[in-house]
Amino acid sequence: MKITRITAIPLSYRLPEGKTVTMGVGSTLKRDAIIIRVETSEGITGYGESHPGRSPGAITSLIHNTLAPLLQGMDATDVVGAWQRVHRMQFSSHGLGAGAALALSGIDMALWDIRGKAANMPLYELLGGSRRRIPAYAGGIALGYQPAAALAAEAQSYVERGYKALKLRIGDTVKDDIERVTHVRQALGDDIDILTDANTAYTIAQVRRVLPVLADIQAGWLEEPFACNDFASYREAARITPLVPIAAGENHFMRFEFAQMLEAGAVQVWQPDLSKTGGITEGIRIAALASAFRIPVHAHSSATGLNHAATLHFLAATENAGYFEACVSQFNPFRDMFGPTFQIGADGCVEPPSGPGLGVEVDEAIFKDFPVIDGPGYVVKF
Ligand SMILES: [Mg+2]
Repeated sequence: MKITRITAIPLSYRLPEGKTVTMGVGSTLKRDAIIIRVETSEGITGYGESHPGRSPGAITSLIHNTLAPLLQGMDATDVVGAWQRVHRMQFSSHGLGAGAALALSGIDMALWDIRGKAANMPLYELLGGSRRRIPAYAGGIALGYQPAAALAAEAQSYVERGYKALKLRIGDTVKDDIERVTHVRQALGDDIDILTDANTAYTIAQVRRVLPVLADIQAGWLEEPFACNDFASYREAARITPLVPIAAGENHFMRFEFAQMLEAGAVQVWQPDLSKTGGITEGIRIAALASAFRIPVHAHSSATGLNHAATLHFLAATENAGYFEACVSQFNPFRDMFGPTFQIGADGCVEPPSGPGLGVEVDEAIFKDFPVIDGPGYVVKF
């Protein structure tokens, strides 16, 4: 079964006027997603998702002009070989690094979809897992900067739907962050796991003031206080309190950057995103590396049901799996465009889909409703 064609389909959705969500990474203007279609000589077609970075056009072009010609003609089941070929041509020298990881991720995901369809097995089964229930938290682009009472009301709405964990956006001013997290803890009581995400917007001085408060409210973690490569600050933050683990990984690519995180000794919760970090093949390697050091993997997930499904299968087959990040974004039409891929239960858990491969039935007719709008999806005030 040979790879005959690889196609990247970029999609965009502009948020309604006045409905932007603001967080440390900026304010959302639009949502972007890139669907990857891989066709084979046996007639089996696989689908995956590549994160668009801040430039869906660039990732689409990289796939069509460089990765597709590299991989066409290879065995569709040879995910390790495909990974190696892209790594050799896009990382070893003169490559596009993180951009290539995004591009490769969607192709790798589609190849795993093909493997599952060819074997007539859901991916969790092919990966050696079971259809077990996976704890989920309310995440995605939600619970952004807003008055504390409104934030608590939004948080409460997710608890009413079944969520027993949720993630607040911090990285605003220290004063506002402290007021918000304290208020939400009081509003929700002690039984809900409150996670926090600064989206790289903090300085170490700000973290020194915020972390003790996060310890007081028993926050489950502080995610991405700093830029992905600022390991010195990460190491410093980890020394402030043992009570709140530092989390990162959605902006770390390939196992090599996770190995650097390990060497820095500063990140206790790993969050690879299968549509960014090098696909399912690389996600498995990252989880294995983490498991040897008793580090839990709480995979980050993004736009469409394809990445959500892939992440559920992956977590269901990972020994050191943590939470599934359930996208509760109010304006993300990509989440359910192929039908819902997860449903939160009263126990706060979700399950992977049961169909072969990713278990997602892709209807390409819907793509015409989301023509790509190139350029960044978030804007930051300078
Ligand atoms: Mg995050």
